[in-house]
Amino acid sequence: MTTETTETTTTEKHDIFSDALLRLDQAAEFANIDAEALEKLRYPKSILQVSIPLRMDDGSLRIFQGYRVRYDDTRGPTKGGIRFHPNVNLSEVKALAFWMTCKCAVVGIPFGGGKGGIIVDPKKLSRMELERLSRRFIDRIADFIGPETDVPAPDVYTNAMIMGWMMDEYSKICRRSTPDVITGKPIPLGGSLGRDDATGRGAYYCIKELERIKGWQPADISVAVQGFGNAGQHVARLLQADGYRVVAVSDSRGGVYHSDGLDVPCLIETKNRTRSLNAVYSAGSVCDCPVCGSEGPQCEECHCGDHDGPKNGKISNAELLELDVNILIPAAMENQITVENASRIKAPVIVEVANGPTTTAADEILSKRGALVVPDILANAGGVTVSYFEWAQNRAGYYWTLDEVQERLHRIMAREFNSIYELMTKHGIDMRTAAYAQALNRISEAIESQGTARYFSNGTISK
Ligand code: NAD
Repeated sequence: MTTETTETTTTEKHDIFSDALLRLDQAAEFANIDAEALEKLRYPKSILQVSIPLRMDDGSLRIFQGYRVRYDDTRGPTKGGIRFHPNVNLSEVKALAFWMTCKCAVVGIPFGGGKGGIIVDPKKLSRMELERLSRRFIDRIADFIGPETDVPAPDVYTNAMIMGWMMDEYSKICRRSTPDVITGKPIPLGGSLGRDDATGRGAYYCIKELERIKGWQPADISVAVQGFGNAGQHVARLLQADGYRVVAVSDSRGGVYHSDGLDVPCLIETKNRTRSLNAVYSAGSVCDCPVCGSEGPQCEECHCGDHDGPKNGKISNAELLELDVNILIPAAMENQITVENASRIKAPVIVEVANGPTTTAADEILSKRGALVVPDILANAGGVTVSYFEWAQNRAGYYWTLDEVQERLHRIMAREFNSIYELMTKHGIDMRTAAYAQALNRISEAIESQGTARYFSNGTISK
């Protein structure tokens, strides 16, 4: 993680879960939600903390801490990723599980929200250690998860191969094949076609709806993407293929900028080629791929720009966020746009591909400036939507074509984007509040279907 990011995160010290809950109250005003249902949503249903002993390659024993939170399962089994990161903590996992609850409701898929994680820097483990850690984690949480109770998926620094190991471990424990216990698996192990780019594609479909509403010409629209992992790479690739000018991308080590637009496929190829743990983690950085197309130290020579604004070449993550672009896409980690930098963010449209990149306080600053923020619970919901498709295919034992997956994803994303945009316009509220209001309406319908104080105090059974 870059220094500047760590600094902004720690300066605005706040509890990420409490911050996440602030959105509830803001949205409740515009939703048809019973006070009891709202109160229920302030608390996660259940939390599991586990210690995971791991025999390291050198023979030593290390104990890792892991979490799994099932936030709310009123609308269906809880669903949410497993994160491997040194900064994982319970508040973060609860916030992510809460967001998943809202996200599944936003896109109308029959899941509640969950999340999990291990406090670990996976880049410091060997592949064998990583596999053992993944399997032991499943061993520890096996009673807590299941195809009909809680269905994990990949998140930051976990991937399809890790999901495959985890599914295999759960199947061993159950003594039967259980592809539906986890999504984001490799295709030969029951993964869905189209899951790999689903998050980026979902965000891309949101941008296409905006393009239609605002009458944009893609060539006139500049885009900066913070975070060049799974989600960031795909949204950048799809936008550029469509004629958008992707002028900046970055990863944890920094970013590159070119005012005319970067060659995204070249950046992806270079980042993938220079990774040190092939097929597991990208240790290569976008900084290794300079805008001029050469590698390594020559990157400095790319400072060729003779124009206003940043020079072409390397930029820091902080600079990327503050670029004068039409669309800013935070696609890395949470808490990137904070009170520290919000007033310097110039992009009129921010599409949140990462979970929780904007703090509530920063959101107010952006909103006052009139920026349109397409919120995370909508913009990155393509991933969980195709995860739902994967789970449905696993349970049916019948697999869809890529066209079927993409067409169904497109239909859902376009429908929900427009319904939220309409709600936003109708109430004159920001898009995040509208998205939460839509989620709360759907969650409250489910909670109220089970009966609330109004129903029970009435004493008669209504038909
Ligand atoms: P990933 O691990 O594939 O990629 C993360 C990328 O962010 C890497 O390129 C990493 O170098 C970069 N990064 C990390 N810290 C950074 C920093 N401080 N500044 C700039 N870049 C930084 O992860 P991903 O799956 O692409 O997830 C990215 C975000 O999208 C996360 O917030 C995740 O929760 C969210 N998300 C992902 C999916 C999915 O299906 N992959 C679905 C929904 C939400």
